[in-house]
Amino acid sequence: MPRNYDIAELRRLDIAHHLPAQADWQEIEDLGGSRIITHADGCYIHDGDGNRILDGMAGLWCVNVGYGRDELAEVAREQMLELPYYNSFFKTANAPAILLAEKIASLTGGRLPHVFFNSSGSEANDTILRMVRHYWQVKGEHSRTIVISRHNAYHGSTVAGVSMGGMKVMHGQGFPAPGILPMAGIEHVRQPYWYNEGRDMTPEDFGTACAQAIEDKILEVGPENVAAFIGEPVQGAGGVIIPPANYWPQVEAICRKYGILLVCDEVICGFGRTGNIWGHETVGVKPDIIAMAKGLSSGYLPISAVAVSAEIVQVIKTGGDFVHGYTYSGHPVASAVALRNIEIMEREGLFEKVRNETGPYLAEKLATLRDHPLVGEARSVGLLGAVEVVADKATGARFGGAEGTAGPMVRDICIRNGLMVRGIRDSIVMCPPLIITPSQIDDLIGIIRTSLDEAEPKLRAIG
Ligand code: PMP
Repeated sequence: MPRNYDIAELRRLDIAHHLPAQADWQEIEDLGGSRIITHADGCYIHDGDGNRILDGMAGLWCVNVGYGRDELAEVAREQMLELPYYNSFFKTANAPAILLAEKIASLTGGRLPHVFFNSSGSEANDTILRMVRHYWQVKGEHSRTIVISRHNAYHGSTVAGVSMGGMKVMHGQGFPAPGILPMAGIEHVRQPYWYNEGRDMTPEDFGTACAQAIEDKILEVGPENVAAFIGEPVQGAGGVIIPPANYWPQVEAICRKYGILLVCDEVICGFGRTGNIWGHETVGVKPDIIAMAKGLSSGYLPISAVAVSAEIVQVIKTGGDFVHGYTYSGHPVASAVALRNIEIMEREGLFEKVRNETGPYLAEKLATLRDHPLVGEARSVGLLGAVEVVADKATGARFGGAEGTAGPMVRDICIRNGLMVRGIRDSIVMCPPLIITPSQIDDLIGIIRTSLDEAEPKLRAIG
């Protein structure tokens, strides 16, 4: 049972001492403190004001198995008592980390048989940046250092994560010269965001144009200088951007043509989110390295992993120590919880359920929103979806003349109406737990429709 917290006091302490992530601290103070999430079960979170909210975001794209799994608490408890911690620096390893590595390798069909552990998605991408550059160094191709990514990509909040990411607002903070890319050796190309950037073309032509932008960049900087291309199969934090179907196969062909490593950031897409175990299966490519986090442990404990091809590891093995790794790489408790979490997803057939049942159902229900006067596009893949809120369906014009007015307003109304979603610019995005039922999907879509209705007069007043 939830504890009897003094919510008003917690809010006061929140303002006085706690600095929340990715937030405007003054705004939170002005609001009287954060919403205090007290407990959660299944697909619902509960706050200190007594609200029960359908979690349309699975926490932060991560609670795949839903909240309140006794089993995961039990496994953590047992592992804490047996071996709460040990490192992997001293020619040492622990059973849960080894078994989890083997499990992840098997989930890649054996194509990526080696696994390196970290604690977060950002750290996984830091590992990847160092690993791909080191690989080329050891191989003797010293000039191959550039990593190509996309504008509006999200690869984390560490220095390397922000740099590989394509979020301009993040590039503008905490680096020597605002507006100049934080780290050298990273190049960005256009993103495959058809609704915002490609509606004057067919999706196929747009997919080809976006893939071509990668080849153009490779030729501009010189193929002999490019180490890797990195991309999320479906951009998550960028706004659930589902690329045209012909995009990724062309990206892969371009990488192969120039001998460039293909990296997929599966931090959101991995573990069934798009209807297959991996997002790269959904988009039809075979990467050399993948990053995963979030669904790996359903967020119950922080853990991430990088799965790597045999070829890359063979080369790195000829180069002595790979001087990279963290105190918590291969953390035994996090590994044990992740292993059991994967077992739960397999036992309950959650990957198949998303592919055959709830994914198609969400798509069908989202399609019913298309007749709403505020909906420019409603799209999804698996249990990852977005609704574009527009002032004019025909032109795609946004309220207030630019993106950023409608999204936060509709999001706040949805939350008030009992649904946690995220507003990214003017799209409302969703990523519910993989255990969501069809009737909960009905509720989710129903709340979005009601909230759009409620927002419409306010938005029309803005113009
Ligand atoms: N990559 C992707 C695709 C992500 O969505 C995220 C987190 N939203 C990250 C990396 C960073 O993960 P973390 O916040 O665990 O560092």
